[in-house]
Amino acid sequence: MSRKAGYTHTAETKERMKISSARSVAVRKGEPLSTDHRKKLSDAHIRNGDRPPTGYMHENPNWKGGISYKISVRLTLERDDYTCQICWLRDPDVMEVDHRLCRALRPDLFQDLNNLWTLCANCHKRKTKNDWVEIRKARAKTL
Ligand SMILES: [Zn+2]
Repeated sequence: MSRKAGYTHTAETKERMKISSARSVAVRKGEPLSTDHRKKLSDAHIRNGDRPPTGYMHENPNWKGGISYKISVRLTLERDDYTCQICWLRDPDVMEVDHRLCRALRPDLFQDLNNLWTLCANCHKRKTKNDWVEIRKARAKTL
């Protein structure tokens, strides 16, 4: 806190500052909120219909699993020797890694090497199209 040289607060001001800081003790920066305060915030969120934050890690469709996913991709490509598992085309430049059971339906198998396979761009496109049929079916069921 910066303070002008030669300046002192009056006793009255000091007293007011004491009360003010005691009241805002829970919102002081850098200090964890009290359980009571957290509960109140939580209640307010529920009251307002706010939803908990989503998009955490694999819940976000853009999440690629970080560095470990890249390793899984490389391991899959090497295991399948850069060969498309549907049409057996071998070309390291066009190979892509796909989820046999697509991510939308089985996010838990996201990084399972047994659920990853190598496909060429064409087969991947076709397979993804089929996946969407499955996804729509599954979603229609749950709605
Ligand atoms: Zn193919």
